[in-house]
Amino acid sequence: MEQTLVILKPSSIRRFIVGDVIARFQHKGLIISGIKMMQLDEAILREHYAHLVDRPFFPDILESMTATPVIVMCLKGKDAVAVVRTMTGTTNSRNAAPGTIRGDYAMSGQENIVHASDSPENAAIELKRFFRDGEIFDYLPCALRLLYAPDEL
Ligand code: ADP
Repeated sequence: MEQTLVILKPSSIRRFIVGDVIARFQHKGLIISGIKMMQLDEAILREHYAHLVDRPFFPDILESMTATPVIVMCLKGKDAVAVVRTMTGTTNSRNAAPGTIRGDYAMSGQENIVHASDSPENAAIELKRFFRDGEIFDYLPCALRLLYAPDEL
């Protein structure tokens, strides 16, 4: 099964909605394989958002993403990367479809509640960036047989 990285951004922490967002992923049937709170700094954000460092709004991203600690999660499931991206919605929350996390909880392009890896390759890189050895757990819940048909596992 695939693993993906989710970051509950300061916009979710400050608005007291982390429980709602985590519940959505759990109700979907994604397995939490790792979860912790951490304070991000400029160094890790320059690496994580390397594709945006030259954009004029990058200082705003830095300020926003370091405003409070974040919660990072490793979610596991079949096609987890695509499933979680679909649940997250488009970058600009104002355009995000109702039913997605950004579509239901946000009005902003920047303050958009969650980060989710955009490919299995980036998920592997990002999980290594935010989790140390021993912080991701390889258990499977007994509910697995209720979540999937036998030929899907
Ligand atoms: P996504 O988070 O949907 O994968 P990107 O990787 O393009 O999108 O952008 C990373 C994050 O940078 C976004 O989630 C958002 O918080 C911020 N961001 C992206 N584009 C803008 C923008 N034009 N103005 C302000 N913040 C932005």
